[in-house]
Amino acid sequence: MIQHDFDVLIVGGGVTGLVCASLLSSLLANHRPNHRPRLRIGVLEAQSPRPLAADADTDLRVVAIAPAGRGILEAAGAWQVLPPGRRAAYERMRVWQAGSTPFGSGSIGFDAADSGAPELGHIVEHDWLRLGLWTSLAESAAPSVTLLTDSPPAGLRREASAMVVELTGGALLRTRLLVGADGSDSWVREQLQLPSTGHDYAQSALVTHVSSERPHGRTAWQCFTPSGPVALLPLADGRSSVVWSCPAADARERAALADDEFAARLTVATGNVLGNLRATARRHAVPLAARHTHRYTGSRFALIGDAAHQIHPLAGQGINLGLLDAAALAETLAAHLLATRLADPGDALVLRRYERRRKGENLLTLAAMEGLHRVFTSDSSLLTRLAAAGLGVIDRLPLIKGLLADQATGLHRNRELHARL
Ligand SMILES: Cc1cc2nc3c(=O)[nH]c(=O)nc-3n(C[C@H](O)[C@H](O)[C@H](O)COP(=O)(O)OP(=O)(O)OC[C@H]3O[C@@H](n4cnc5c(N)ncnc54)[C@H](O)[C@@H]3O)c2cc1C
Repeated sequence: MIQHDFDVLIVGGGVTGLVCASLLSSLLANHRPNHRPRLRIGVLEAQSPRPLAADADTDLRVVAIAPAGRGILEAAGAWQVLPPGRRAAYERMRVWQAGSTPFGSGSIGFDAADSGAPELGHIVEHDWLRLGLWTSLAESAAPSVTLLTDSPPAGLRREASAMVVELTGGALLRTRLLVGADGSDSWVREQLQLPSTGHDYAQSALVTHVSSERPHGRTAWQCFTPSGPVALLPLADGRSSVVWSCPAADARERAALADDEFAARLTVATGNVLGNLRATARRHAVPLAARHTHRYTGSRFALIGDAAHQIHPLAGQGINLGLLDAAALAETLAAHLLATRLADPGDALVLRRYERRRKGENLLTLAAMEGLHRVFTSDSSLLTRLAAAGLGVIDRLPLIKGLLADQATGLHRNRELHARL
């Protein structure tokens, strides 16, 4: 029987799992006194990233990375290897309610120049980000992370001093700490029977790319319509990425429309903000749900990223929260392992420190997204009118706007963490 022993086994090699492995390994390597044994870190991933051609069209899966998330990706070495054409900085953000105009009384705007920052964030191709992380771990001259992709996990059992993952081929992976970074349908969460609260929005996000009559102006545009928000996010090649949240049946119908009809409807839904739009890519509908796992940690386990919390994409915060989780867990573990010679990475009390650092923030963001979604898709016209008026009022209050911008960039939360990585 094949058996591998790990100190930390991360199930899920998406962006958050890979960032966690990379940061943990480098934090320990940078500070490791000579007598300390190297930590054995494994990443078990169901699908290794597919190779990407340099001239491939912009992938449909793009994510808005806030400055705090970018800092973490830099510390993990992922930002530096991202080809420049696969990310686009956005300097402004304009949010308004359908019926109002992008610059009217029911709108709000953020400009990087107001806070002296070069940009508010970047729109990044997810698969390039993941491939860069994967490749740098796989090709590291002194590999400290073992990437396992041969067979999926089939079973999990607890022993007194380890978690044991059994793979479908029968091999056993024994680990002192099991990290679930395996996304919203987390296998780890299910195996550990961790209770969670959540709901399906009965909505999907239709994603595609469009070109526009007028330039996007390095601005992220988002309009709240009664059936859900629709966003136009600037891409490096001048097009915009579309995230159109709407009832699942509407998404199916819009996905099947002829290109011209789809573009015409999207032009209307976005208030003609960039003039006539033209369909330039296939369309894909992603079902939307919100979920929060009650406990992220316990003896010998921790959850990070979408495995712990899943949120509506209306403010583009999902992966940013996951990156903050990954960094907080890596840092908490590294501090513990460097402090005590016989430190155990699966120590529930230590893992609880990570949970305390992240849970409040994640819950608050979840609640804010939930509130925004409900207010703007409410049947009550009074409520939606009040919300639109609220946007306009906040737009004229620079101090409150500054606070909101700080919240969105994520820099207020983990300034210390950011500095230490
Ligand atoms: C339409 C849409 C737009 C979005 N836009 C943004 C945005 O602009 N900004 C933002 O911050 N967030 C955005 N998000 C959210 C963001 O995509 C997610 O929060 C993020 O990708 C979650 O990362 P993760 O690594 O936790 O999980 P995932 O990306 O889901 O990765 C999980 C990994 O685990 C692997 N895996 C799963 N099960 C197993 C198993 N049993 N064994 C082994 N491996 C397994 C998977 O193959 C995968 O590689 C958006 C989401 C949607 C739906």
